Amino acid sequence: MRQLIIIGSGPAGYTAAIYAARANLQPLVIASSVEFGGELMKTTEVENFPGFPEGIMGPELMTRMQQQAERFGAEIVYDDVVALELEGPVKRVTLGSGAVHEAQAVIYATGSAYRKLGLADEERLSGYGVSWCATCDGAFFRQKKVAVVGGGDSALEEATFLTRFADVVYLIHRRDEFRASKAMQERAFADPKIEVVWNHEVAHIYGDDKVTGIGIVNTVDGTETTLDVQGMFVAIGADPRTHLVHGQLELAPEGTIAVQGRSSRTSLPGVFAAGDVVDPTYKQAATAAGSGVVAALDAEHYLAELADAEKTSAVAVSA
Ligand code: NAP
Repeated sequence: MRQLIIIGSGPAGYTAAIYAARANLQPLVIASSVEFGGELMKTTEVENFPGFPEGIMGPELMTRMQQQAERFGAEIVYDDVVALELEGPVKRVTLGSGAVHEAQAVIYATGSAYRKLGLADEERLSGYGVSWCATCDGAFFRQKKVAVVGGGDSALEEATFLTRFADVVYLIHRRDEFRASKAMQERAFADPKIEVVWNHEVAHIYGDDKVTGIGIVNTVDGTETTLDVQGMFVAIGADPRTHLVHGQLELAPEGTIAVQGRSSRTSLPGVFAAGDVVDPTYKQAATAAGSGVVAALDAEHYLAELADAEKTSAVAVSA
């Protein structure tokens, strides 16, 4: 049985792996089959991660974190967790391949998943004009018109990125002010290709086999308009990925995994959580990395206490 399994390979998972590997815990990282590296794999330039004054591309940052973890002995498996048994002293992690791994402790760092608008045609046209990732799909919209939905940092970042390709980027927000940071807003307002559509929500997506337009509704007076666009990017936030631990770990009212105080300790001994899955507020790569450090140190202390307790009981039995 291993000492530690880390589930997730974003900044939290890989940073936990770096610390745990340096502490000689030889962690196994379950990195996911398609989404390894987490959300930063879908980002362009990261300008606010400390240590990179010129900025660094998201995928490169994640590759470096992965290499740093491997350098100290972390083992990485590119597969998905399909089942978890977290109660009791032996934690069991079942993968898509059918492989079952056991460990004394688990760090759960699965991040968050993009929110959907919940429209009837959203799924059907996903990949055919509807997207959640401008970095992945932006280049398909060269000299086209696209819409971005949302008013946070993600929406403004996506909109700004899409102006590299699209002729017009409608930025559709349900209110009359953005939630995004001032710097992000200034950049978007200064971009002549971005047209902000305040006080509107998307009500329809049109198109048989690809997006040909969207119907938007004014949130103030209810009037409906059609926008002629070939693409729609949804950037309305993300929800913590907790489905694997429902019924096993306590959740906070915000839907994140509940942890004790500033620690990463969950409601079960030997199970720690880190990154966006515990953070409803900050959700930054740097805060996720810090949270990964906390989880690795908590796991290290837990395992050391466990080893001490085992030694004490072995001495008691032999005496
Ligand atoms: P967010 O800050 O939660 O913003 C979500 C936006 O989508 C809000 O403007 C919200 O509107 C809107 N929205 C939510 N549900 C909607 C719905 N059903 N229909 C229409 N609009 C809807 O999410 P985020 O932009 O993904 O950012 C998440 C976190 O990551 C934030 O902490 C952000 O700072 C961070 N982030 C940072 C960077 C960066 O620093 N480079 C880049 C991306 C994200 P309301 O405003 O009306 O609620």
